[in-house]
Amino acid sequence: MERRYFISNADAASFRGRVLNRNKFRDEKLDKMHWTLAPFTIYLGVKGQIPNLEHHNYFLGSNFRGYADTIFTSSISPQKPYYYVNVSSKSFPECAPEGCENIFILCPVPDLRYKANWDDREELAQNIIDDLSERVGYDISGNIMTKKIMDPIEWEGAFNLYKGSGLGLAHDMDQVGAFRPKNKDEKYGNLYYVGASTTPGTGLPMVVISSKLVMERLEEDYGIL
Ligand SMILES: Cc1cc2nc3c(=O)[nH]c(=O)nc-3n(C[C@H](O)[C@H](O)[C@H](O)COP(=O)(O)OP(=O)(O)OC[C@H]3O[C@@H](n4cnc5c(N)ncnc54)[C@H](O)[C@@H]3O)c2cc1C
Repeated sequence: MERRYFISNADAASFRGRVLNRNKFRDEKLDKMHWTLAPFTIYLGVKGQIPNLEHHNYFLGSNFRGYADTIFTSSISPQKPYYYVNVSSKSFPECAPEGCENIFILCPVPDLRYKANWDDREELAQNIIDDLSERVGYDISGNIMTKKIMDPIEWEGAFNLYKGSGLGLAHDMDQVGAFRPKNKDEKYGNLYYVGASTTPGTGLPMVVISSKLVMERLEEDYGIL
């Protein structure tokens, strides 16, 4: 008899709740779990070369602990945000027209449980761009050739990220190992899960390992594939 199996790459927690209607994973329960940061990202094409930027740059204030403890559960936009800037054109000039920079800015922000309205996205982006301009001593605003912003609502829509959480379920003690949503479904013996919110965890290396673990399970369950 032919054996069929299914592998879901959707978020392993919210898929169980929203698609399979499992009580344990309905939104009210998921909302009480710990989720990783929501991303607020800005993509800029800028005229001119900016001397005080490297390929990888972090811009933090003097109170990282206090900032990190409060900002992710706050309903207001960060006024003095902490953010990461990647300038790929520093290492790969072909990423931008000659004499220009290709800039990606990632700012961790509250997810949609805490801040559902992002009508202030332009204001937040401008805050970040102004702050960056000041720190590096270059008029970025006046030299923008292209600009694209993605707020948590758009990140949620693009990849079905639960409430805009960028990396899925967090790695708190009660959300790792046996406590994390399993990679084999509790009810359907031929349904498996890969990705950030199942085992072993979130981030690209872990996600790749999650697919290896499922392959191993399939080999155990079905013999050589
Ligand atoms: C801005 C940002 C920066 C990041 N930076 C890093 C980094 O520097 N290093 C790092 O290790 N990780 C980083 N991550 C995290 C990393 O990208 C994720 O952990 C990883 O991509 C998760 O892989 P995944 O396969 O679980 O989900 P995804 O890569 O999101 O793939 C899931 C796929 O399933 C689709 N899908 C979802 N639901 C359904 C459904 N119901 N039906 C059909 N299809 C569905 C989605 O559209 C998507 O294509 C970052 C994430 C973000 C958002």
